[in-house]
Amino acid sequence: MASKSEKKYRKIKRSHVWGSLIQFVLFAVVSAVLVAAAIQLILAYIIDTKIAAEYKSIQYMAKLYELRTGDDDIYDVLNEEGHGYIVTDAAGNVVYANGENTCGIEGGLITLPAQTEKILVYRDTERGYVYPGSNGRLNLEFEAFRKWLGAEGDEAEKDFDLVSEHSSMFNLPIWISVDAGGGEHLVGKALFKANKRDVYMFSALIAAIAVLIVVILVSMLIGAIKSFVRQRRMLDLFFNDMVTGGRNWTWFLVKGEQLLKKRVRSNDRFAVVNLVLVNYRNYCMCHSVAEGEKLLLNVYRKINSSIGRKEICAHTTSSNFALLIKCSDELEARERIEKLIGTLETTGTDHKFSFHAGVFILDMEKGNNGQRFKRDDIDIDTAYNNASTARATLDDNDDSGIAFFDEKLKDEHKWIDTVQERQQAALDNEEFLVYYQPKYDPRTNELKGAEALIRWNSPEFGLIPPGRFIPIFEKNGFITSIDHYMIRHVARDQKAWLDKGCRCVPVSVNVSRAHFVEDDLAEQIRDMVDEIGTPHEFIEIELTESAFFDDKRAMLRTISRLKEYGFAVSMDDFGSGYSSLNSLKDMPLDVLKLDAEFFRDESAGKRGQIVVSEAIKLAKNLNMRIVAEGVEVREQVDFLAGEGCDMIQGYFFAKPMPGNEYEDRMALGTAPKDQPN
Ligand code: C2E
Ligand code: CA
Ligand code: CA
Repeated sequence: MASKSEKKYRKIKRSHVWGSLIQFVLFAVVSAVLVAAAIQLILAYIIDTKIAAEYKSIQYMAKLYELRTGDDDIYDVLNEEGHGYIVTDAAGNVVYANGENTCGIEGGLITLPAQTEKILVYRDTERGYVYPGSNGRLNLEFEAFRKWLGAEGDEAEKDFDLVSEHSSMFNLPIWISVDAGGGEHLVGKALFKANKRDVYMFSALIAAIAVLIVVILVSMLIGAIKSFVRQRRMLDLFFNDMVTGGRNWTWFLVKGEQLLKKRVRSNDRFAVVNLVLVNYRNYCMCHSVAEGEKLLLNVYRKINSSIGRKEICAHTTSSNFALLIKCSDELEARERIEKLIGTLETTGTDHKFSFHAGVFILDMEKGNNGQRFKRDDIDIDTAYNNASTARATLDDNDDSGIAFFDEKLKDEHKWIDTVQERQQAALDNEEFLVYYQPKYDPRTNELKGAEALIRWNSPEFGLIPPGRFIPIFEKNGFITSIDHYMIRHVARDQKAWLDKGCRCVPVSVNVSRAHFVEDDLAEQIRDMVDEIGTPHEFIEIELTESAFFDDKRAMLRTISRLKEYGFAVSMDDFGSGYSSLNSLKDMPLDVLKLDAEFFRDESAGKRGQIVVSEAIKLAKNLNMRIVAEGVEVREQVDFLAGEGCDMIQGYFFAKPMPGNEYEDRMALGTAPKDQPN
């Protein structure tokens, strides 16, 4: 889909949470490494500084030994220093040892703080936890030392006592070798002593660092949790439908795609449904918007409780709901939706509601190009659009109903798109032609008038009848341009014919009801005709019956003004659909056009004749002329002539024809003799 909503959704999902989590983990790892390094460094520093003092003392002993005179026993003097030590000769043999000789052979050079010279040290064979490291410093074997402290704590205590420093907690030996001249070395047992204060301070330091890190980690964790919660809230808001408090269209898009993507390899089939509560606006008007929204909420709840786990539903706009449901075929989908509508119809207590459902079945077997459906083929937006298109075919019906999207509908929609795309260019290129259908007096066969009917002569599609494009223009508003175009062309033709000396009769032009929202419609028509200079009596305006329902006052005003300017006004399609007897009473109309339906086979019987005859009488009483449309056979002509019908416009006399042919009809003045029967 990669739609805008999905992108926004992804952005919200990505934001904050992952960043905080990564920060948290990074910080945890880095601080662990840093703490380990810090502990090592601090330990090394403590050891170094402690050992430095011991080194000084051993250095002093070595000096004493080197400078011995032989007067007194040098060993007695050295022993007083309190260190264990050994003296080695040039060959490395021990010549003297004070205390137990536990000097190991593993040794190395180290540097003590603030000293440049390197000193040679050996590890103790018994408690060699301090040792010369390869880094040139003294290191502590921390783990082993810790274990020794724990396991042999008591013995260790005894060892400390030996050294007679009661406040010490432990002594760790390291042997320092100092040159004593003449190839001899004095190797002294230096003790790394830690008393309780040292241990406490060290522990306190480590604890402080640990606490600090824990505090930082916890606050980071809280931050991460907070941003996670915030993200959830944002997503909720993003997907929230204000009216029902449920899920909205964006959610439907995102979730629908996720759901289908997961199921693409399964054998499940899905249908996208556009479900509409019919006459929702009326309900709101009769009750209130708040009541209406309550109703929508109930409908939403009912839908939600009737769908399965792997199915979704959202409230999209106004009284529209989107559903994605599982179904194996059209039949199953129909059954399910019928059942759903059945429960929804009784949502209110005292009211039976109607619902329209448009259904688009996702063909998971066949995606694009007839190959198996792929993840990229998923397009919920288009699927819902198709479902809505199917649903729109039910729009004229107030009862509940279900419509499925099929190829025919698709073609129809393509055609609508094509028409909308070309309409302006077609108008600019004068592709619309005016055809004229003559109206004859059935008693005298005289030409009495004509109706201008549009044709679209498309270079691409040939001659297109108005039924294929006028309803589209009526929906998209282009019809007003078309009506203007027709009035201008008819006025121009009439003017040209009058100038040529033709025996012109009034030509009626259809004006769409969409036009009646314009206040100055009568003036517009007058000005257009005047610009061309056609006398007004040669132009008649046809209004369809249904237009009389929209705004009676506006209609009356426009009709009165048109008549004032000298245009005749006729009511088209009288008797089709709604009865407009009431309008007849109020509107000062000149002509009544009986709908062609009266003369179709089924209604042409006795009862039909009665209705037609009464309608003619009614028109006469109201001082109106009457035109019968769609008359195809002689019997009807004779009947209408007998009833006093003024004009007949029908195939019996003539089909709509191009201007030049109509010109010949005008010249003839009466209907051609050889009329079909
Ligand atoms: P309408 O205004 O009721 O026009 C009469 C229609 O009945 C015309 O169809 C005409 O060809 C047809 N008709 C006339 N006599 C007979 C007959 O004896 N038998 C049969 N079967 N049909 C007959 P058309 O020209 O296809 O027009 C259809 C509709 O398109 C018109 O119905 C009108 O509503 C609309 N329309 C046509 N031209 C225009 C226009 O210039 N402006 C507007 N707004 N609508 C137009
Ligand atoms: Ca008409
Ligand atoms: Ca008509």
